[in-house]
Amino acid sequence: MKQVIVAGAGISGLTAARILAESGYQVTILEKRSHIGGNVYDYFYSGVLVHKYGPHLFHTKMRHVAEFLQRFSGFFPYEHRVLGEVRGKLVPIPFNYKSIDELYPPKQAEHLKQVLSEAYKDGDSVPIMELRRHKDPEVKALAEFVFQNVFYGYTKKQWGKPPEEMSSSVMGRVPVRMSYDDRYFTDEFQMMPEQGYTVMMERMAGHRNIAVRCECEALSCLSVQDGQVYFDGERFDGPVIYTGCIDELFGYRYGRLPYRSLDFVLERRNVTQAQPVVQINYPNRFVYTRTSEFKLVQKEKLEGRTILVYEYPKECTQEDIPYYPVESEKSMNVYQKYKLLAERTANLHILGRLGEYKYYNMDVSVDRAMKLAEKVIEKL
Ligand code: UDP
Repeated sequence: MKQVIVAGAGISGLTAARILAESGYQVTILEKRSHIGGNVYDYFYSGVLVHKYGPHLFHTKMRHVAEFLQRFSGFFPYEHRVLGEVRGKLVPIPFNYKSIDELYPPKQAEHLKQVLSEAYKDGDSVPIMELRRHKDPEVKALAEFVFQNVFYGYTKKQWGKPPEEMSSSVMGRVPVRMSYDDRYFTDEFQMMPEQGYTVMMERMAGHRNIAVRCECEALSCLSVQDGQVYFDGERFDGPVIYTGCIDELFGYRYGRLPYRSLDFVLERRNVTQAQPVVQINYPNRFVYTRTSEFKLVQKEKLEGRTILVYEYPKECTQEDIPYYPVESEKSMNVYQKYKLLAERTANLHILGRLGEYKYYNMDVSVDRAMKLAEKVIEKL
């Protein structure tokens, strides 16, 4: 049987592993943590299903991705809603017509919505940096207000730099919406796994052709030298899918790629519900960026008890968990060098948010993993 090695049991690695296993490959997954699931992992804490590495709300436009995951779990419909604290009020994020109604006196709110509806088509989603460049002074003034009160402080905390220094793809993730749609995402498929992601991913890994080695540091048994992969000291010619940090794979020879990391602080509260929605963003106060009350996602029936998770962003040092690649011209140049190096090894495939150094959402990770697995199978 053809052997495949997958480094990393996150959603990318597991998706690829499952597809390869189903087409007859014997897959060995190397995972450094004691659990599978990567940063999508969830676990019960005080009776609440908590996303250990931060909120993961599933949404996609890609039917094939939704259907693939639905093979491993039932899902229930869930539309994420977020409030942000602006001028002491909790208003819907992405900033939309409802946010305007909450923040301005009725007459002014009507006027502002009128101005926006003349400037944009109903339902448009406009990145904040684009809105700021609008010619109409009233649109520009509103854009400046939203920029200062929704984006500036949050981005400073999250990335350690202001929005002007961030890529348009990051700043465009949460646009300003020219409608009353206050959902965080607008994708067709918005749903959550009934028993959580970990159960779903355990089922993905549950195939007779998949063996997972947890607490196994991939780079203690895997290395790349002169276009060859070595596994347990011997040359390995089968496909290798690597989902860890690409700079680490190559011994940081071109320097470290920058990442942002997070600290999570869990607080047990003796109330049935601590906040009005699952997620509250704090662009203008506190050191943390947001609080998540995961109990409200799964609707766990716990009376008088809940868990609130506070998120503190920080620079990612060698000891920290990398969460977000910090894309800039400089870091992308370094990444390109590592990518070229990886391409010199024919049987080495780099995958996932860390490997590809891209701020992928879960659905894109699954889609890319599906495509890579199919490419590997075609080469058989
Ligand atoms: N953002 C912001 N204010 C908000 C929400 C988001 O400034 O209230 C910016 C911030 O730079 C953040 C980016 O938009 O990093 C993407 O936000 P998203 O909610 O997609 O981040 P994730 O959930 O992936 O951490």
